[in-house]
Amino acid sequence: MRGAVKSLGLLSLAAVLLGAALGGHATEIRALKLAPEGDHIRAVFELSAAPDYKLFEIGNPDRIVLDVRDANFAQSFAAPSATGLLKAVRTGRVGKDGVRVVFDLAAAVRPKSFLQPPGDGAGYQLVVDLYKKGKGATAVKSVAALAAKPRDVVVAIDAGHGGVDPGATGNAGTREKNITLAVARDLKRLVDAQPGMHGVLTRDSDEFIPLKDRYRKAREAKADLFVSIHADAFATEDARGSSVWMLSTRGASSEAAHWLADRENRADLVGGVSLDNKDNTLAAVLLDLSQSATLEASGAVAKRVLHSLAQIGPTHRGYVEKANFVVLRSPDVPSILVETAFITNPAEEKRLTSNTQREKLAGAILDGVREYFRSTPPPGTWFAANVRKDKPRVAAVLQADDPDAEELGGAVAERGPSS
Ligand SMILES: [Zn+2]
Repeated sequence: MRGAVKSLGLLSLAAVLLGAALGGHATEIRALKLAPEGDHIRAVFELSAAPDYKLFEIGNPDRIVLDVRDANFAQSFAAPSATGLLKAVRTGRVGKDGVRVVFDLAAAVRPKSFLQPPGDGAGYQLVVDLYKKGKGATAVKSVAALAAKPRDVVVAIDAGHGGVDPGATGNAGTREKNITLAVARDLKRLVDAQPGMHGVLTRDSDEFIPLKDRYRKAREAKADLFVSIHADAFATEDARGSSVWMLSTRGASSEAAHWLADRENRADLVGGVSLDNKDNTLAAVLLDLSQSATLEASGAVAKRVLHSLAQIGPTHRGYVEKANFVVLRSPDVPSILVETAFITNPAEEKRLTSNTQREKLAGAILDGVREYFRSTPPPGTWFAANVRKDKPRVAAVLQADDPDAEELGGAVAERGPSS
């Protein structure tokens, strides 16, 4: 049915002209398209800029309201015809410089929104999904999840440095960026050879990748774990041993402030929820919950990997260290950084340049990572489906060989941002 569009308020020509003349930075709403998508209706707004918006529900009768501050409708804008649950779409102005879009609904819905940054010739898109409330949709989804083939866990493997950033250099001239890439490739090969595991490299050539893009790539790949590979350096030649790092709580809380302030981040799914339609307090609580769980998981993986590295060579310290490393800041992907060995220690530099020794290092990292997934399999994965069957045996192995045992326990060190 067409034409169920009424004007909410006065959308006068004067207001449009004023908006165009004054609002150099105003968000122009160019178009709105509706698409029914199975269990929900998707509304896509085409925008000239990232919007400052608020989405909320009103009952009796059921409505979803979108307010966009400092915005106006393009002259060519036309509200679309209603469809399905949606009885009408109305538009108007709100406040001094804002616009309002009202979705009139036949029943209560749960709205979810996210912002799509510009790409492929399109501008900003604000996507609002209207899910019918009730158990139906979720029940169908969980049955489908149960029936689905268990997925592989995804391990994002990050070769530190690269391109114009060579990292540290050994006495014999070995460059960290080449060592990290070689270890990362070895590790990916070993990971891919495991049942239920899949490796993704953040770089597979000698290229420079900004730190933030590294963990962004991992999140895009829906990684279950992020492992950054490095080689350590020190002023004297005698420093030696592998070490494993995780994000410090201080690093996590400063990152939380950034996430909440950055609209693009808030539109991302954090631990499966979008924060952008939540008020600040709720968003902060959800982010904090996700970060705490992620830090806990990062600590568990880190301990296992360090334990496993300790089986094949010296460790620098006997415990997991913490720092505010940029690459470890994903709020919802457990992340560790492995300093394989000291490139500035001649014996260890030799170890790093030997194919066999490097493969041993990669193998030890794999063992630790696999132990972690065996003990804490993410739901829906091959590990969740297969480890359950022999749980008693695995539990016994972990007890006999507990990576949390004293030599790896104890205090943690903090280090400022670097790497
Ligand atoms: Zn490094």
